[in-house]
Amino acid sequence: MSKGIYVVVEQRSGKVQNVGLELIGEATRLKADLKDDVYAVLLGSDIEGEVDKLYHYGADKVILVDHPYLKEYVTEPYTKAVTEIIKAYDPEIMLFGASSIGRDVAPRVASRVRTGLVADTTGLRMAKTQEEYDKEASMGCADPTRALLMTRPAFGGNIMATLMCPRTKPQMATVRPGVMKRIEKDETRKGELIKFDVNFTEADMNVEILEVVKSDKKSVDLTEAKLIVSGGRGIGGPQGFDMIRDVADALGAEVGSSRACVDAGWIEKDRQVGQTGKTVRPDLYMACGISGAIQHVAGMEGSELVISINKNDTAPIFEVSDLGIVGDVKQILPKLAEAIRKY
Ligand code: FAD
Repeated sequence: MSKGIYVVVEQRSGKVQNVGLELIGEATRLKADLKDDVYAVLLGSDIEGEVDKLYHYGADKVILVDHPYLKEYVTEPYTKAVTEIIKAYDPEIMLFGASSIGRDVAPRVASRVRTGLVADTTGLRMAKTQEEYDKEASMGCADPTRALLMTRPAFGGNIMATLMCPRTKPQMATVRPGVMKRIEKDETRKGELIKFDVNFTEADMNVEILEVVKSDKKSVDLTEAKLIVSGGRGIGGPQGFDMIRDVADALGAEVGSSRACVDAGWIEKDRQVGQTGKTVRPDLYMACGISGAIQHVAGMEGSELVISINKNDTAPIFEVSDLGIVGDVKQILPKLAEAIRKY
């Protein structure tokens, strides 16, 4: 019988990436219903030093494939390694980040092991009710009590679709970074290390990495930011971001944006929050002159505290806000920046 909840943990330059820790957190929540162990799959070269961190964030076991071919992400060796792990262990569930790496490797692995893949999910849970079990069974699922329900936006984010993979294993999904929550770090947690050998041949390394060049542009990673001040069309134009930046500087926050401003060329795309931008989960999200369209809210509703400023008191953003200020951003933001600096 297929068993275990597996998370493919990404590393870059030998450091485990946040999305992997978020997925381990989600796997521990699925474990509460499925009662299977959580396995972290770590691929890289000379990365054993990162293993303990995976236990601290909830992994029961770590499958480590340590090989020079896995130092940087290359499609073929990564696909081969994950495929061989699936063939050796027969996991029930396998999760990947919906990052550039996960989006590249997961469909190839799914195709090689002849299973399905639900891409870009934002919610996962085990089937629980009799009605769900009956539905699963009617679709050919042998054990509906072990069925994973995977939710993702569809039709431009206007509906949320729940999908399942009833007949083949593993049940696989890519999950958007920033959506799931890490569990509290516990440095006393220990686990079991499994070293897994993959018999790579020269033919597997079908590209040669000559150099890794870091982008010159200071790109932001909003998914890691604790505080975000975001501007929408209501700020009036590209110069409106001067007041957004001023408040953000005063707070030590990152600047975010709605898609309307990105499409208008007021700010770079890597600042966009929402369904087709980043999913963020900061301690504070300030939405300034943002209406609160469903596609924007999909990217920020997991924020701890949401404060919104909008001149229209019926703007939908207020429905997801802890504190709403009805007023003109051009009057409020400069005063706010000044007040924060005085504070
Ligand atoms: P508007 O909807 O125009 O809202 C501006 C708001 O500012 C209004 O509520 C207005 O009352 C207020 N306002 C105006 N002047 C002032 C003022 N002086 N002071 C205070 N308030 C003021 N959007 C995203 O943001 N992220 C996405 O990832 C995303 N993905 C999408 C994917 C698809 C497939 C589609 C179809 C759409 C997507 N959108 C996305 C677009 C989304 O539907 C909205 O069009 C967009 O979020 C609107 O941006 P906005 O709130 O800045 O602008």
